[in-house]
Amino acid sequence: MLNIVLFGPPGAGKGTQSSKLIEKYQLVHISTGDLFRAHIKNETEIGKKVKSLIDNGILVPDSVTIDILEEEVKKNPQAKGFIFDGFPRTVTQAEALDAFLESKNQEITGVVQLDVNEDELKSRIAERKKISGRADDDEDKLIKRIEEYFSKTIHVLPYYQNQGKVKKINGIGNIEEIFNNVCASIEAF
Ligand code: ADP
Repeated sequence: MLNIVLFGPPGAGKGTQSSKLIEKYQLVHISTGDLFRAHIKNETEIGKKVKSLIDNGILVPDSVTIDILEEEVKKNPQAKGFIFDGFPRTVTQAEALDAFLESKNQEITGVVQLDVNEDELKSRIAERKKISGRADDDEDKLIKRIEEYFSKTIHVLPYYQNQGKVKKINGIGNIEEIFNNVCASIEAF
């Protein structure tokens, strides 16, 4: 199995690279952000619980997030592997994911870190805002998301670095070129 974590701040290009990766490697894409947005759209209990957090750029509590992630993995017993996009975002989530995969005799193959500076992130999301209609793409909410990333999510990196599993890719430039670099690092894991 190929279990890849795509890691990076909001706007780093995780979604874009994920859709190319699932096609090439026939993997299942799990984006916790997409799962939450579907819950909100369908007005489920979870959706009602997380809507204001998400609209304001605040991380959803770990317990809720870990539950929906595990549920989604269990829905795909035939998968050749997974691309985890936007998960784990805290060390608690990373530990839960390791324990969960271990219970299935699996593990994270590697973590691809998409490296993009803060100015570029802000200008990409300002562009995306025009078409995404996402409340959390507003500038003040984006600042909150970047703050959440640098205060909580960044600690996930040393967690995986200690396992020797992180490869860092320059996330600025041509999408195809970035994709080739992502694939090269996956193949070297
Ligand atoms: P982006 O990477 O552009 O910030 P996502 O679609 O990955 O967007 O996430 C949108 C929002 O969903 C986050 O700001 C957060 O509120 C919530 N979310 C997504 N994944 C997680 C997670 N793993 N843990 C906590 N909250 C999450």
